[in-house]
Formats: sequence, structure tokens, C-alpha cells
Amino acid sequence: MSKITLFWFRRDLRLDDNAGLYHALKEQQDVLPLFIFDTEILSKLDDTADPRVTFIYDTVSDLKMQLQKKTSDLLVRHGSPLEVLRALAAEHSIKAIYANHDYEPAARKRDEKVAAWAREQKIEFKTFKDQTLFEKDEILTDSGKPYTVYTPYKNKVLKTLDGFYLKSYPNELYESSFLKVRAAESMVSLQELGFVRTKIEFPPLELSTKMLKAYAKERDFPANSKGTSHLGLHLRFGTVSVRELAREGQKHSDVWLSELIWRDFFMQILWHYPQVETHSFRPEYDKIAWRRAPKDFQRWCDGQTGYPLVDAGMRELNATGYMHNRVRMVVASFLCKHLLIHWREGERYFAKKLLDYDLAANNGNWQWAAGSGCDAAPYFRIFNPSAQLDKFDPKGEYVKKWVPEWGTVRYPEPMVDHNEARGRCLQAFTQVLKK
Ligand code: FAD
Repeated sequence: MSKITLFWFRRDLRLDDNAGLYHALKEQQDVLPLFIFDTEILSKLDDTADPRVTFIYDTVSDLKMQLQKKTSDLLVRHGSPLEVLRALAAEHSIKAIYANHDYEPAARKRDEKVAAWAREQKIEFKTFKDQTLFEKDEILTDSGKPYTVYTPYKNKVLKTLDGFYLKSYPNELYESSFLKVRAAESMVSLQELGFVRTKIEFPPLELSTKMLKAYAKERDFPANSKGTSHLGLHLRFGTVSVRELAREGQKHSDVWLSELIWRDFFMQILWHYPQVETHSFRPEYDKIAWRRAPKDFQRWCDGQTGYPLVDAGMRELNATGYMHNRVRMVVASFLCKHLLIHWREGERYFAKKLLDYDLAANNGNWQWAAGSGCDAAPYFRIFNPSAQLDKFDPKGEYVKKWVPEWGTVRYPEPMVDHNEARGRCLQAFTQVLKK
């Protein structure tokens, strides 16, 4: 039996400019790509029409088709990764497994288990940097510590980011290393995975120079749906290379590039401080007397708070899986500060709904909004949702799109008075933080 090498796709669902795949093809022969629908992840989703599963399903089907055109195939399996790999090792003689790094705590544990098993089996397990511009230990302070403040981190990134870090991996040069397959396997169906197709439409994979050039001026106005890239979903699942995007950012928009650097920043925070997944980065914030208020929380989820910008944002999220960044900041601040509900509840709701949900970015931004994060908004900065509306949606176009009954008797009164809620929040926060 001749030996094969597996390339295991995870959040890097593309054939071009893919670091791990490049190294596999360059260093090995008979490379067979693999994707696993991980039951440990899928079983935690409570919506059988979860749009992210449809997106992955369609992307994986497309990858399989592209590989079949190259007379190879993509193995698609459904199960727990270690069990799937064990079963494959019983069928094939596996020389090596290649993949790209993943920084989330659960993924790190999964990879540690796979690495230990592979060592026992004398199978090489190699992983590479692909989803970030910089590896967790490539951008450190002069004393070798991780950065916990964004601006100096960004400055160091900008000083370091040169052609070396941004070059594409020319995978196409080594395509002859894909294993030639005589009879390709058929694709599992979405139903067999226990899911149904979503009705939500996905943002296209395109980046316009016009958008980039206007980004600094336009990015804060949610009524302009073309003011930002909508590439979050593609970055999340790796259907686009972050290096390619950063090159465009360098050419046309420093501000947009700095958003990609926020993405890297939160990924390295999650890697160095995995406890942020379940705790406030500043532990004193866990002592705040957060309110348990399920009815208030539900009104926030449903977009029925009586604050039009908050309600428009939540309804946009519920209908499309997307919410504009400015509005994400406003709704997050409203939940943590006006309603005094723990940021983790909001984080969890976003995790269920956002197409571009990413643990590092979601957690980092929620902790930023609550004030509990590494480089967070100060606790006494409390967005006034009405002032935010006047500033960022002055004609009410965004609000009218999502809250058509705004201004009629059918629209609810504000569920809390801004000044009272502000006072309650400051009291609760100072009680703990001023000690
Ligand atoms: P663009 O404005 O075009 O930016 C390009 C890319 O840069 C984004 O796609 C994203 O990958 C990255 N980026 C932009 N802003 C940020 C940021 N503040 N932090 C980290 N990365 C950033 N972003 C996510 O990708 N996943 C999340 O789960 C997520 N949750 C958030 C929760 C809250 C409470 C807030 C305030 C923000 C959150 N963001 C999250 C950041 C930001 O809102 C989205 O990345 C952005 O709105 C996505 O739209 P876009 O693709 O058009 O972004």
C-alpha cells in the first residue's frame, strides 16, 4: 500500500494561497484533502437551518468539485475528528497530516489530542500559520511579552508587515502532488448531517477598490450597505486569504488594514489569555452585580427595546446574520450598560446568530464594549443610543428599513430611561471598580 498524506481543511476552505496545503503539496506526494463535519461542533448548534452550516456545506461541495476536476478528490467525513482519523488510518497507510493553526481553546485541545495520537502512530502532524498575518509570538513587546493594548501592537505590526509576510503561496505550482483518484466518492447530503438549507443569502466574495478608498469616511454609517466589505464570513471560514486582503488594504486604505490588525490582535489575545473565553480579562468585572433579567434580555434579542438604533441592529442580525459594526457597538453597550446584563449573555447570542461569528473577535469586542477587556472602552463611557442615531443615521434610513413601525403607536416606549439607566450602571460599576 503506498503512503498518502492528508491535508485537513478546517477554517481555510480554499485551494489558492493556502499555507498548509502549499507545504503539503510541496513536501509530499499523494496528498489527499479531507474535511470533517465535526459532530462535537455541530451538536452544539440548536438551529437545524443554521446558515453557517449551509455556507460550509456549499463551500466544501465546491472544493470537492474543483479537486475532482484535477482528478483527485476531497474526502468528506462526519464524526469526531480523532475517530475519523483513526478510521482513515485503518483504511490507508498515512505518512503525514498537514493543517493550518487554529487559536481557539477547543481547537487547540482537539489538535493536541490528534498530535498525541499521530505521534503514537508514527504519523507526522504539521500545522502552519494561515488565518492570521502574524503568528502569536511574532509580534511581542521589546521585553518579549504579548501586547495587551491595541495601538502599540498595531504600530509594531505596521513596522514589521512587509512583502515577506504578505506573499501568496503558489499552490498551483505543486498540483501534481494531489493523489490521483480513479473513482471519486459522492458527497454526503445536508440532510444526512441533520441540517436543512437556510434562506439567508451570503455576502459575495468581492472587494471593491472604490469601497476601500471611501472606507475611512463611510464605514460608520449603517444605512450605506456598501460602506464596509462584508467579508467577515469569508475571513471566518478562510474562503479568502487574509494576506491577499491585507495587500489591498496597504494599497488603498490604512483604516481598513487596521481593522484586519484588530482581527489579528484579538486572536493573539485569545491564544495568550485563553481564560477570556469564560472570564473577564479584568477579573474585577466578574464581581459586578450584573442583573439576571430574562424578559429584558428577550426584548433586546427581539429588537423591542424602544431605542430605534438598537432595535434596528438586532432585527438586522436576526434577519440576515449580519449587523453593522457601529450598531454592534451600540447594542452591546446598551445590553451591558443600560440593561446591566452580563456581556457573556450578549456574546452568546451573537455567537448563535452572526455569520461572521469568530470566538476571538466576538469575545474581544464584547469585552471592549463592557469595559472588561484588555484595551476596552472605559466603564464610564456609556453610549447614548439616541445621540448615536442622530450622528450615524441622521435621516433614519437604516432604522426605517428594519423598524418600519417606528414613529407609530405600535412602536414600544423606551424600556429604560437613558439617564436612570446610566446612573444605575455607574453605581454598579464604581462599587466594584473603585475599591
Ligand atoms: P469591514 O469593516 O469591512 O472590516 C474587514 C474585516 O476586518 C472584517 O470582516 C473583520 O474580519 C475585521 N474586523 C473589522 N473590525 C473588527 C474588530 N473590531 N475586531 C476584529 N476584527 C475586525 N467581527 C467578527 O469577525 N466576528 C465576530 O464575531 C464579531 N463580533 C463582534 C461583536 C461586537 C459586540 C462588536 C462591537 C464587533 C464585533 N465584530 C466581530 C467586529 C466587527 O463588527 C465586524 O468584523 C465587522 O462589522 C464585519 O463587517 P465587515 O466584514 O463589513 O467588516
